Amino acid sequence: MAPDLTAMLERRKKLLGSAYRLFYSEPVHIVRGEGAWLYDDNGQPYLDMYNNVPHVGHCHPHVVEALTRQIATLNTHTRYLHENVLDYAERLTGKFPDELDTAMFSCTGSEANELALRIARTCTGGTGIIVTDYAYHGNTKAIYEISTEDIPEAEVPDFVVTVPTPDVYRSEQTGEQFAESVRDALALLDSRGIKPAAFIIDTIISSGGVIATPPGYLKKIAEIVRGSGALFVADEVQPGFGRTGRNFWGYEIDDFVPDIVTMGKPMGNGHPLAATVTRRELVDEFSGHAHYFNTFGGNPVSCAAGLAVLDVIEQEELQKNALDVGLYLNAGLAELATRHEAIGDVRGDGLFKAVELVVDRETLKPASELAAKIVEGLKNRRVLAGRTGVHDNTLKLRPPMVFSRENADHFLEIFDEVLAAS
Ligand code: PMP
Repeated sequence: MAPDLTAMLERRKKLLGSAYRLFYSEPVHIVRGEGAWLYDDNGQPYLDMYNNVPHVGHCHPHVVEALTRQIATLNTHTRYLHENVLDYAERLTGKFPDELDTAMFSCTGSEANELALRIARTCTGGTGIIVTDYAYHGNTKAIYEISTEDIPEAEVPDFVVTVPTPDVYRSEQTGEQFAESVRDALALLDSRGIKPAAFIIDTIISSGGVIATPPGYLKKIAEIVRGSGALFVADEVQPGFGRTGRNFWGYEIDDFVPDIVTMGKPMGNGHPLAATVTRRELVDEFSGHAHYFNTFGGNPVSCAAGLAVLDVIEQEELQKNALDVGLYLNAGLAELATRHEAIGDVRGDGLFKAVELVVDRETLKPASELAAKIVEGLKNRRVLAGRTGVHDNTLKLRPPMVFSRENADHFLEIFDEVLAAS
């Protein structure tokens, strides 16, 4: 490792402690970004197939300009009137059906989800939360407790119950059959004397292995959950803002409207901005019990960033690009699968893709070590990807939305080489 990287690693360990993790056995030191590319301290380019936060491209000039103009003028908070906050709330709620008409701002997906749970608990009088069995929804205590990917089983509180991830690659069940499992979850809460408050789901289950929910699954669950008096919360922190190509929100795979939708990561293109969007009457009921203030959430600078991100998505037709390049990537990955036995499944929509690696296509035994080797191999050839899933055997490909067919060709060529070499 280069001496300056060794020194930085030592410094980092000393200053940040041991709870943080770095990617790669030899970490990368990225100093600049542009579009779908990142550059290291030697000026070497890396194709970014991993980062969904710089949604409209790293350092997009329109977003940078909007941010710098606003921060040079004023930055306060939501206790004063400001047009940006109203303009952004209007543009954002305009992306939803009429009933989802109210936006509450925060800084992180965790906060947006925590507020969703508070609203759900206040409005239903329940406390029980139903989640998928390998879920990640954030890092505050209340959200850590429902993040079944992270929390040790013994620490899961009795008001949290799970349903199986609807993984149709590893199961014969249909979406509707999977959805029925929410009845068991409700019965379990009932047997514990706990009233349900909400079902919450990442609408493309990223932590579970980038599992797109099968058609009919979300809608059926919403029906069952509402029948019990609880609310349906769609966590759009990863799938939202057009990433899936076909739709602007992941939940739109089914024809229904959630009670609450949360979002974050891509909203400000890297500037911390998150939101909880819901129906006015739910917020009215909540505000009868508690007020909400978030010092930084939805400030004029953040809203300038949010507005600029929506401008770019619309002007550069990035949702359409995600659909087009996503289909192109599917075709390329399907071709690679004809030559590389390790590719068990290629799935996902738009620019949110998964390649699940297996030791054997019959038994579906997960190829977790191979996946680790491939992520390192890609990085050594300057392509950044990640891995996820219960067995960590699934490559997660989630590039900035400006990712082009040319970028896809570059990735496919390198991926082919790395698969052949691993
Ligand atoms: N929900 C989902 C689905 C996420 O993937 C994440 C972050 N990985 C969060 C919520 C939490 O977002 P944040 O890190 O901004 O708190």
